[in-house]
Amino acid sequence: MKIICVGRNYADHAKELKNDLTTEPVLFMKPKTAILLPHKPLYYPEFTDDLHYECELVVKISSNGKYIQEKFAHKYYDAISLGIDFTARDLQREQQKKGLPWEIAKAFDGSAAVGTFVPLTEDIDVDNLSFRLDKNGEAVQNGNTSDMIFKVNNIIAYCSKFFTLNIGDLIFTGTPAGVGPVAVDDKLEGYLSGEKVLSVAVK
Ligand code: MG
Repeated sequence: MKIICVGRNYADHAKELKNDLTTEPVLFMKPKTAILLPHKPLYYPEFTDDLHYECELVVKISSNGKYIQEKFAHKYYDAISLGIDFTARDLQREQQKKGLPWEIAKAFDGSAAVGTFVPLTEDIDVDNLSFRLDKNGEAVQNGNTSDMIFKVNNIIAYCSKFFTLNIGDLIFTGTPAGVGPVAVDDKLEGYLSGEKVLSVAVK
């Protein structure tokens, strides 16, 4: 399986990192070894001094597909959750400054924390879902998928032009404003439509 991530998908977050908006989704990938399963702790990596959380809606692919049309994209995923796109912000900035790839800053072991998946039902509108991340019991990110620049179906169509999507692949759909640092002993909890689906302790 693979993990495809979208960057700069919320205008308020692009602004806080002083990034320009793009006319097509910004994609990057994380390997399978990046997955941090529900309720597993993240051990603060020794190679960074500025580890950030980025809470994102995560979509689970349920059918194999290539060149998926946007109007059929909804048939290719069947579950959603929240995830944290952990980012070594200091390394990312250094890499960006040099025009180099971001993998060491974004694709390291444990960098793709995922919560418990919720099966999609007809009453769930993926384009209008509120979500929130709490750090040590205080809300630090509040988002709604209606603010995504590229919506889920659009992202799936775009990704599938370049990469065959396979059952079990995950798509991290981008983070809203409010990203920030974590420290050892922090506890992160994610709520999707008010339901807690994600919990990560930093050790
Ligand atoms: Mg992200």
